Amino acid sequence: CGIVGAASSRNIVPVLVQGLQRLEYRGYDSCGVAVHAGGLTRTRTTSRVADLLTQVHDDQVEGLTGIAHTRWATHGAPVVHNAHPHFSYGPGEGPDSTKPPRVALVHNGIIENHEALRASLQARGYVFSSQTDTEVIAHLIDSHYDGDLFEAVKASVKQLHGAYAIAAICRDEPHRVIGARAGSPLILGVGADGTENFLASDAMALAGVTDQIVYLEEGDVVDLQPGKYWIVDRAHKPVARTVRTVQAHS
Ligand code: GLU
Repeated sequence: CGIVGAASSRNIVPVLVQGLQRLEYRGYDSCGVAVHAGGLTRTRTTSRVADLLTQVHDDQVEGLTGIAHTRWATHGAPVVHNAHPHFSYGPGEGPDSTKPPRVALVHNGIIENHEALRASLQARGYVFSSQTDTEVIAHLIDSHYDGDLFEAVKASVKQLHGAYAIAAICRDEPHRVIGARAGSPLILGVGADGTENFLASDAMALAGVTDQIVYLEEGDVVDLQPGKYWIVDRAHKPVARTVRTVQAHS
């Protein structure tokens, strides 16, 4: 339903969760945030975004890089284990193993071929801990990961049928957020002072943070880092997209 992501040089958790609050009016049944804080950590709840904010504050969750989501369930009940972000721990590993998660992912939309993808990922040893269509994307990205999250996402989206806007972060690349979209909106927010960049499903999520917006086009994949971003089109060719100044929302 709603996505916010950030690659910054300051603690970005308040911006991520306040971004979700700006998207709350769309409705949601659960919400969550994942950040890179040494490794990947996440906080998820079926309660309100205000409670997520209290929880991350109380737990002193901080990070420079992160993704956040409000979920409107399409596949899998509205319970905490189906809330985004979803993790992949790698083949043969799950939440109960000692291995830390490698990929965290949020997703808007519906993956039509999730059953076929789940079967082939399970055959390769991936352990599923939700009933969502989304979790297949997290494991798919992990299965393609070879040191470069951008390349892993590009390889993964080729296998997806359906509608998606996604944002992913990786344990091994602490300053990077990768986004992609087809059939669901996703925008890039260019940070004011050149030290941070953002992703969101709606520019409104970034009100007060940046008004410099790139509307990503169908099939675009974007690589965000604190001081730079890079976009490829549906053919995975580098492309320059216009940065627009949007009116500030109240
Ligand atoms: N299909 C996904 C799910 O049910 C994403 C739903 C959404 O767009 O919030 O978890």
